[in-house]
Amino acid sequence: MHKNMYSSGRRSRSSFSGNSRPARKPRGFTGQYIHPSKFINREVKPSVQTTYDAKHSFADFAFIDGLKNQIIARGYETPTPIQDQTIPAGLEGRDVLGLANTGSGKTAAFLLPIINKIFTDKTAKALIIAPTRELAQQIEDEFMLFSKGSGLLSVVCVGGMNIQNQIRGLKRRPEVIIGTPGRLKDLYERGDLRLNQVNMLVLDEADRMLDMGFSVDINFIVSMLSKERQSMCFSATITPEIERLIHQILVDPVTVSVRSEQTSEHIFQDIVEVGSGENKFDVLHELISTVDFEKVLVFGETKRSVQKIADELSRTGYKAEAIHGNKSQSQRQRALNAFRDNKTKILVATDVAARGLDIPNVTHVINYDQPQTYEDYIHRIGRTGRAGRSGIALTFVRK
Ligand code: AMP
Repeated sequence: MHKNMYSSGRRSRSSFSGNSRPARKPRGFTGQYIHPSKFINREVKPSVQTTYDAKHSFADFAFIDGLKNQIIARGYETPTPIQDQTIPAGLEGRDVLGLANTGSGKTAAFLLPIINKIFTDKTAKALIIAPTRELAQQIEDEFMLFSKGSGLLSVVCVGGMNIQNQIRGLKRRPEVIIGTPGRLKDLYERGDLRLNQVNMLVLDEADRMLDMGFSVDINFIVSMLSKERQSMCFSATITPEIERLIHQILVDPVTVSVRSEQTSEHIFQDIVEVGSGENKFDVLHELISTVDFEKVLVFGETKRSVQKIADELSRTGYKAEAIHGNKSQSQRQRALNAFRDNKTKILVATDVAARGLDIPNVTHVINYDQPQTYEDYIHRIGRTGRAGRSGIALTFVRK
C-alpha cells in the first residue's frame, strides 16, 4: 500500500537498489557513514500485534483511593508492560531499572509510585531529571493530571526559562522537582535548590542524557542527595556508560526490560535521491506538495538549517513550525502544541529538540539531513509508527 506513495510525480527518486553505487557523504557532514540501504525497508512487518497480558489491573496496585480515581479519570484502563512490571517494585520502595522506549508509558510507571508515596508520607520529596525541557514539561503535565485537586506542588527547572520563576517555585517547597541537569546544578550552586531532602530520584531517558554530555552534572547532583533514597532509572539502551551510572546510583534494582523489537520493522522506509544539480529544498517542496501528508516531522542538522526550512516552507504557503535550541522555551512549546493539536502539519526539528517527545499520529518522518548515527536514525523514525500505527520514513540521500 505504501509502495511509491510519496514518489508519485517524481521520477524514480526511490530507485536505490542494493547494487547502486553508495551515495556520497554530504559535504560538511561529520557523522558516521550509514549505507543508504539501511534507510530502506519496503517490506513492512504488520505492526504490533501486542499480545502482552498484564498481570495486574490498576485496581490491583496498592494505590490510595484518590490516586486510583485519578487513574480512572485519566482514562487508563490497563497497565502497559513497563507499568505492570515496575509499579509493584516502585510501590515497595525498591530501586528500579526500566529499559523502555518513549511511548511505553514509563512516565506513569515512575510517577504513580511517587505520587502514592507523597500522599502517604509527608517527608517524601522527588527529583526527576530528564534530558530536555520539553520532556520535563511533559512529565509535569502528567504529574498535574494525576495529582489534580490534591494540593501537591511541582516545579519545572529547565534552561531557557526564567530562573526567578523557578526559584519562586522552589521556595514553595514543592514535593516534586523536575528538571534538566544543567539548570538543576545551577540552582543548587546558587543555593536555591536543596538536594539533601530529596528521597526519591528518577533519571528519565538516562542514555539520552549521557549522549548529550550531562554525565558530570548528573553525577554531581546525585552526589548531593541523601543515600537513603529510592532511585529509578529509565533508559532505552544499555551501554557500558549506562552500566557504570546504574552501578553508582541504583542499589539492588528490580530490572525490567520491555524494549520492543526494532520498531523500525513496522515502518516503511525509503530514500529520496537528490541529484547533484538539484536543490534539496526544491526536492522537499515537491515531495510535500505531491504527497498527502497528515503530520510530518522533518529533521534537519543545524538550528539554522531547521529554521530556514520552516521559513521557506511557510513562504511557499505551508504551515510549518521549527523547534531547535535557539528558540525560547515558550516558542518551542508553542510550536510543539500547534503540531500536537494539528494546527500545523509540518514540524521541522533538530535531534536534540525532538528527543523524548510524545507526539501522537506523526504519519511521516523526513530526514532532510542525515542523522549522525544509525541509533539517531532509529530514534528519529520512532517518532512515527507509534502505538501500533504504521508510519513512513524518508531519508534524503545525495546521488
Ligand atoms: P510515555 O511513554 O510515558 O511518554 O507515555 C506514552 C503515552 O501513553 C502518553 O500519551 C500516555 O498518556 C499514554 N499512556 C501511558 N500509560 C497508559 C495506559 N496505561 N493506558 C493508556 N495510555 C497510557
